[in-house]
Amino acid sequence: MSYVDEIYERVVTQNPGEPEFHQAVKEVLDSLRLVIDANEEKYRKAGILERFTEPERVISFRVPWVDDNGRVQVNKGYRVQFNSAIGAYKGGLRFHPSVNVSILKFLGFEQTLKNSLTGLPMGGGKGGSNFDPKGKSDREVMAFCQSFMTELYRHIGKDTDVPAGDIGVGGREIGFLFGQYKRMTGLYEGVLTGKGLNFGGSLVRTQATGYGLIYILDEMLKNNGKELTGKTVLVSGSGNVAIYAAEKAIELGGKVVAFSDSNGYIYDKDGIKLDVVKEIKEVRRGRIKEYVDAVPTAVFTEGKGIWTIPCDIALPCATQNELDLEDAKTLLANGCFAVAEGANMPSTREATDLFVEKKILFMPGKAANAGGVATSGLEQSQNALRMSWTFEEVDEKLHKIMVDIFAKAADAAERYGVPGNYVTGANIAGFEKVVDAMLAQGVC
Ligand code: NDP
Repeated sequence: MSYVDEIYERVVTQNPGEPEFHQAVKEVLDSLRLVIDANEEKYRKAGILERFTEPERVISFRVPWVDDNGRVQVNKGYRVQFNSAIGAYKGGLRFHPSVNVSILKFLGFEQTLKNSLTGLPMGGGKGGSNFDPKGKSDREVMAFCQSFMTELYRHIGKDTDVPAGDIGVGGREIGFLFGQYKRMTGLYEGVLTGKGLNFGGSLVRTQATGYGLIYILDEMLKNNGKELTGKTVLVSGSGNVAIYAAEKAIELGGKVVAFSDSNGYIYDKDGIKLDVVKEIKEVRRGRIKEYVDAVPTAVFTEGKGIWTIPCDIALPCATQNELDLEDAKTLLANGCFAVAEGANMPSTREATDLFVEKKILFMPGKAANAGGVATSGLEQSQNALRMSWTFEEVDEKLHKIMVDIFAKAADAAERYGVPGNYVTGANIAGFEKVVDAMLAQGVC
């Protein structure tokens, strides 16, 4: 049996009931076969894949807090410290009812490769809770965040593990978490990224993942003789990534016609008015269907179906496995020629395989959404230097990082004889750097 198949079986057996983690490992290992087969003896002897698929540490803890009715609530809290071969652990915290060990291990595993691609010295980690911030008061969110950090603080630090935001964790939550870290440790240090601008945050961090997605999309289009100007774009989700991806896509001449949330999607044939979406989502924390109250010519449809709208470019920016094989077929039938993933693993394995087989321009999440963590890395640098760079300075660095990531993915794909396959290219480029560092550091 090949080393890849052996390790995949081992992962399934040793991590029962973790389908998202199995899926991520399978997708990555399958696309790394070319590299692994070429180095099989060396990697087997060093147990590289056994180590690469086993998190260095999984921390699980109780998070008790008091709700507005005076009742004690209990949630689960986690931090997965996946791989520190090329730097201290770095990766977001997700607060969502679906959070479990399987999802956090899949995210931490992917994060290791993504962070490697950025070229910055960051290892991979991820964490979060099954707490749902939706419908909670600010005081309840604060009580939860303080309790979460009362345990987490002992596992993190500016040179050990630096969490950030993810689904359900934005500026408000990072502020509460940072305040509690400071109280518990007495340290004012860059232990979290995505902080407010007046206490160590970086300009562009809010926009970074969305802007970065469009920078790499634009680079991919240009390298394939296409452009964004005049193209119809679908954006799923309506959170942080979706909003800023749409903002930059519109700035570069694209026409964004749809957004969604977990209730349904809106279609505005005249082009989405982003100020209306921002008011609903960033100011009122409302639902995307409220868009049609402000723009009556737009249509809201309940449930799934955003990918049935005809488009040139699709940007899935909501959550994992939101775009399946049927969706992929529909997109292709409607003439969609480029997909760039703002979310982590939004396309199912079958959908990804179809995009690759049909040779459309497809940029996988670990490359396409790396702008967020890259800018977090830039926030860490500014904190260490006790300096703040201007918006233009950070944006320029972000742009350069995304262009470099495209070049690395394209180059690795070329080197291994699969030109244009950015899935394989991104995985190989990310993997090579981590594995070289693991080999150099001996058995650890
Ligand atoms: P937010 O919480 O800001 O937004 C998530 C959005 O996706 C919300 O509009 C949410 O709707 C929607 N959504 C969630 N689940 C579903 C679903 N099943 N169907 C339709 N819509 C859904 O999160 P982010 O924008 O920060 O993150 C989005 C994705 O991007 C995630 O996969 C995240 O891991 C990834 N990512 C984020 C980075 C960042 O910097 N923020 C960096 C790299 C990746 P609702 O309000 O109804 O839940």
